[in-house]
Amino acid sequence: GSGDMHADLVVLGSGPGGYTAAFRAADLGKSVILIERYSTIGGVCLNVGCIPSKALLHAAKVITETEEMSSHGLAFKRPEIELDNLRSWKDGVVKQLTGGLAGLSKQRKVQIVTGWGEFSGANSISVSTDDGQKTVTFDQCIIAVGSTPVELPFIPHDDERIVDSTGALELSNIPKKMCVLGGGIIGFEMATVYEALGSEVTVVEMMDQILPGADKDIVKPLSKRMEKRLKSIKLKTKVTDVKAQKNGLKVTFEDEKGESSSEMFDKMLVAVGRRPLGASCAADKAGVKVSDRGFINVDHQQRTNVDHIFAIGDVVGQPMLAHKAVHEGKVAAEVVCGEKRAFDARIIPSVAYTDPEVAWCGVTEEQAKKEGRKIHKGVFPWAASGRALANGRSEGMTKLIFDPEDDRVIGGAIVGTNAGDLISEVALAIEMGSDAVDLGHTIHPHPTLSETVNFAAEMFEGTITDLM
Ligand code: FAD
Repeated sequence: GSGDMHADLVVLGSGPGGYTAAFRAADLGKSVILIERYSTIGGVCLNVGCIPSKALLHAAKVITETEEMSSHGLAFKRPEIELDNLRSWKDGVVKQLTGGLAGLSKQRKVQIVTGWGEFSGANSISVSTDDGQKTVTFDQCIIAVGSTPVELPFIPHDDERIVDSTGALELSNIPKKMCVLGGGIIGFEMATVYEALGSEVTVVEMMDQILPGADKDIVKPLSKRMEKRLKSIKLKTKVTDVKAQKNGLKVTFEDEKGESSSEMFDKMLVAVGRRPLGASCAADKAGVKVSDRGFINVDHQQRTNVDHIFAIGDVVGQPMLAHKAVHEGKVAAEVVCGEKRAFDARIIPSVAYTDPEVAWCGVTEEQAKKEGRKIHKGVFPWAASGRALANGRSEGMTKLIFDPEDDRVIGGAIVGTNAGDLISEVALAIEMGSDAVDLGHTIHPHPTLSETVNFAAEMFEGTITDLM
């Protein structure tokens, strides 16, 4: 029909994976159409994920820092929280980024089609736009539809006091009593924000620790600090029922002994994981296999079972992280353009931007134990770091994991302020096959938190032993 469009490459979904792939392919000379249901591009990450959460976490950090400096000779008054202004600032940060992306698309002549897209064949997607149905045809396609929050059947999600991460980031109010279901990265980041803003927060986690996946010793400084700030962290506890009542949400918990208890809350954030959207774009109509859980399987070139269709980001599997999506997006775009490229990253770092931050990459101690793999480690406690002490935040720790065969770094974990930035050096060391001597003999600037990576390597080598 009229208004039908064709491009060498069509990218479905404009998150970090999708826009990266679209831009890269356009730079390499392909004509590209990017399909996105929402009016702004950037996906979950820019609009309702990584970026707005970090703006609010920054605000939270300022609040708790001024509070803590009060016992070190700087007495601040409790800041007055102007919720409307805080919200607009956060929205402004997002707008600046999504607006920037729109500009970058224009520069590259990437055409954006706004609307919900579903495959109608192996070389076509039907898009429901504001001006009706449009058919977009392609030679090659990259599926980058991402994921959406998991809902639980026994939770009345239609009650407005029950929110997912998107609802929590809207910052419509500061509830008096808040229940955060899920002690993973997203749940714990939002718990950090609302606690700092003044809510009494209870976090509920089924596993025996918060941030499952990270080593227990690395999580401990965070849980120790947050146990004092939060109302409570309920571990090995399930939420079994939620009743939306007039006077609040009645939440029923079941602990590890099977004992039940109930408590009233004003708001509940459900952050129990994310579900891939592979099935909702009718990928099967193009012949693409989608798993029962909604994931799309790909090979090391991001290719699906259909030769000219690729997939990237949250929809292809864990870890559901923006930097993984971006990396996969580049690989897929370059393969589409005929380059020899494959996804061969040794590690993908994970970061919880809590306070303190928790970051880890590569082999963890827990994983090594499970696999019966021998490791060596070097650990440096931040209580011996001049900079951490001068920052008034010495509760951190830097840990490096080495292969006992050749002393190469195969993993690392850091807890402490700015751990998320610090982990990149460990990631580079692993990618480059560096060993303990490489890290120990690299001169790090003093006094910095980055020195703790250097010191952890020296602790392992035994070139420093006497810490304090
Ligand atoms: P997405 O970002 O999910 O984008 C997919 C896009 O496709 C969406 O815009 C969607 O509207 C569109 N779409 C889907 N189906 C269709 C269709 N049929 N038609 C048209 N459009 C469609 N990761 C980090 O690395 N660091 C963080 O700090 C971080 N913080 C997070 C905080 C929160 C609260 C959340 C929820 C997530 C966070 N993440 C973080 C995860 C990160 O957002 C995701 O891993 C990342 O966005 C995945 O990118 P993607 O390209 O796969 O897809």
